[in-house]
Amino acid sequence: MTDFETWFGKSQTLRLERTFRCNQPLCDISSQFVMKNPSQITKHVISEQISYQPVIEAFLVSDESRITGAIHTYLSKLHNGLEEGSIPPSNGNKVRVFILGRYRKDQELIPYTWQKDFSDRIHLSFSTIHGSKGLEADYVILPRLKTGIYGFPCDIEDDPLLALAMPQGEHFPQAEERRLFYVAMTRAKRSVTMITVQHRMSSFLTELVKEHRIIVKDIEGEIIETVTCPECAKGVMVPRINGKNGTQFWGCNRFPKCRYTTNALDSMTMEHRVNYTRNRINQN
Ligand SMILES: [Zn+2]
Repeated sequence: MTDFETWFGKSQTLRLERTFRCNQPLCDISSQFVMKNPSQITKHVISEQISYQPVIEAFLVSDESRITGAIHTYLSKLHNGLEEGSIPPSNGNKVRVFILGRYRKDQELIPYTWQKDFSDRIHLSFSTIHGSKGLEADYVILPRLKTGIYGFPCDIEDDPLLALAMPQGEHFPQAEERRLFYVAMTRAKRSVTMITVQHRMSSFLTELVKEHRIIVKDIEGEIIETVTCPECAKGVMVPRINGKNGTQFWGCNRFPKCRYTTNALDSMTMEHRVNYTRNRINQN
């Protein structure tokens, strides 16, 4: 609907800026995120909903095989909260949770015991983000916010044929993926939970960490420090070990796209991070 007047002549724009779904902090973060694209129509959304803190949570797992376990842990905490009354139900004695996948394949990440374990209190369903437009749930889980294969944003170059159908002059990188991420965040009435994979943090999550002080934790709630790459400003610095001499250094997680490395970060922090990583791997 951009450039409407160019095609149809003088018109009046009525903005739908009142939402009965998302709470205000979630509206603010998601709106700022999508309006980074200068060709996006400006909109200031006002919420009618009360907010539950925190509105965005981010959890990091050591590798992809841990995502399902992390979702189970999350649902388990939610279930406990509902049982003991610290979390109010929204519909009867239940809450509604969406797991929203960038791809249909993300469906495989749903814990297969969820019905047995949680369905008395939690109504869980899966949808792709594309299929979720117009729908809402109390809680949204974005299960695979990572780089690479089945990543989000999707790395595959923009389709030149599709580009013909897009608004002219839309050169903002990953504009469509950004709108999709916005759609995903704004399906939630209470909060959005994002799960990412160590060394493969999605650039969208990195942006939220940097600009909206979203704190990345492990699934038990321990805070994981993230340092944004000073070179590309998109990646995060992760501990690496030199394969030849065993020394430690920091490198950008977007390697090989970004080759920035440094030894200059605080060595104590780094040792902590490397040990932390090792412990996690050993526990697996
Ligand atoms: Zn970098």
